[in-house]
Amino acid sequence: MDIPTVSVDTHARRATGPIVLLGAPGAGKGTQAKLIAAHFGIPQVSTGDLLRDHVRRNTPLGQQAQAIMGRGELVPDQLVCGMVEGRLAEKDCEQGFTLDGFPRTVAQAQWLDGRLQAGLLRGKPAQKVPLLVIDIAIDYGLLVQRLTARRTCPHCGAIYNLHFNPPRKPGVCDGDGSNLITRKDDEEAVIVERLKTYERQTLPLTDYYRQGGALRRVDGAGTVEQIAQAIRDLLERRGDVSCRSSA
Ligand code: AMP
Repeated sequence: MDIPTVSVDTHARRATGPIVLLGAPGAGKGTQAKLIAAHFGIPQVSTGDLLRDHVRRNTPLGQQAQAIMGRGELVPDQLVCGMVEGRLAEKDCEQGFTLDGFPRTVAQAQWLDGRLQAGLLRGKPAQKVPLLVIDIAIDYGLLVQRLTARRTCPHCGAIYNLHFNPPRKPGVCDGDGSNLITRKDDEEAVIVERLKTYERQTLPLTDYYRQGGALRRVDGAGTVEQIAQAIRDLLERRGDVSCRSSA
């Protein structure tokens, strides 16, 4: 299926509250965050995209992050949390948002909990809806296959996969005709590092959120549409999130 270029329809915006997508690099977080945005009208907040934008604009944060990202390591918590705080304060996040690639450490998760509890979204509808954490669980072999075949549009952010979701014209974005690129950190040597970083620093988050009761799991081996449907089902039922235990 085609991944839509997301223009968020503000009339369709619904109070989904805060959503976190967990999963290894290549699990499909970015693709699914875009589909959530298209369906529920809430923005995708991707820390990877925000950091890449800082690098492109050569900001002080971008200068600090560039080499770290090139090695497949994590940018320090304090820098990333500050960046996220600024983005979540924007008006389009009032009804909810999907965090894609954040949190990535237990310290970031604790920071997010603290901000939500302290009323980061005070007085706004999203504040009343509890955090929902969706883990897109997937096998490692499939991840490497997906990441090496991933191509992205540097302009609209559309994500393609040469095997499962190729562009109509090779190398060209269906949405805006830009030449597709391979992200520098999607090269195989960096992928291995990113997966190690994930295992060491991000995987413990599933336990953190399981203990907190907010964790739901979807099978990341399905098609884009099957995963999207599973996520929509979770979100449609999220009113009773706190008493469900499918994780
Ligand atoms: P992504 O596009 O989510 O795969 O992120 C690309 C790179 O950006 C990661 O490999 C990290 O170097 C950095 N990054 C993204 N999100 C975070 C985060 N929450 N904490 C630290 N570093 C991050």
